[in-house]
Amino acid sequence: MAEILVLVDHADGAVRKPALELLTLARRIGEPSAVVLGAGAAAADIAAKAAEFGAAKVYVADAAEFADYLVVPKVDALTQIAKTAGAGAVLLTSSGEGKEIAARVALRLESGVITDAVDLEAGADGPIATQSVFAASFQVKSKISHGTPVITVKPNSAAPEAAPAAGAVENVTVDFTGKAAKVTSRTPRVSSGRPELTEAAIVVSGGRGVGAAEGFGVVEELADALGAAVGASRAAVDAGWYPHSNQVGQTGKQVSPQLYVAAGISGAIQHRAGMQTSKTIVAINKDAEAPIFELVDYGVVGDLFDVLPQLTGEVKAR
Ligand code: FAD
Repeated sequence: MAEILVLVDHADGAVRKPALELLTLARRIGEPSAVVLGAGAAAADIAAKAAEFGAAKVYVADAAEFADYLVVPKVDALTQIAKTAGAGAVLLTSSGEGKEIAARVALRLESGVITDAVDLEAGADGPIATQSVFAASFQVKSKISHGTPVITVKPNSAAPEAAPAAGAVENVTVDFTGKAAKVTSRTPRVSSGRPELTEAAIVVSGGRGVGAAEGFGVVEELADALGAAVGASRAAVDAGWYPHSNQVGQTGKQVSPQLYVAAGISGAIQHRAGMQTSKTIVAINKDAEAPIFELVDYGVVGDLFDVLPQLTGEVKAR
């Protein structure tokens, strides 16, 4: 069975949920191996977690380079491991970093890259990836016909399923190419206590319809009642009502939650580009003709300042 490498995203010594989703998907197309880069003292815990979700083997490489430089050391490591293992595919999370690493690894492996897959299946001659395009109007299935396929998968594309495996740890020494952008300082983000936008199972977003920064209060209250992340349209971000780090869309973040609630958002194509693969979409808009209603599962025509507090009340009452 082909060995499928999964680059394990981790933070603060813990495996991030998208990595467990990737391991689950990897089992559909071959035998998963986890790649853990730069985990320091937490490497053993991270390897154990990967084994719990099906990693037969866990490659661990630890070096200061992973923290001190941007993506290139990870590209060096992943390329080296993929070549040595003769990997059948390499899977990464569809984050900004994941996609940059994927493109560079594919170039070094002289293969191809597929980004933003939402599903994977085994094909006769390699994995077949499904992408969702044109506001989720079409699904595209594609495969890489040359070399080791490198595929990034959107968070929330699969529910992580435990499947205990051997998780044999293999320590790897990486030959770094030495050409990389160095990190000169890090500024920790102030935590809102809410889930990370791209990984959240539920996202509640506000747009120009909230009218002012204070208008996001009703959006945040519903988000907190649901344990959701808060998103914003570009119009709301450009107006200075919410941070750019929360922008959903073509020039913001791509989200694919189980539930996406859009309040006071018209549904411009650039906004759809960031949320169209959400499993269930709910919109609240006072204009019954708003384009967002073309793609929703549930639509409420009404004033968000009436509707959101009622929704929050209902959720809290359960
Ligand atoms: P509007 O289009 O003004 O819609 C506001 C909606 O709120 C209206 O439908 C209105 O009926 C409704 N409303 C008003 N008051 C209420 C109320 N009280 N209750 C209920 N509903 C109410 N946009 C993004 O979002 N993300 C991107 O990443 C992005 N990237 C872009 C990149 C490019 C190159 C360009 C050109 C544009 C980009 N845009 C992006 C902008 C995009 O085209 C839209 O302008 C933007 O999405 C509109 O935001 P909105 O829906 O909040 O505002």
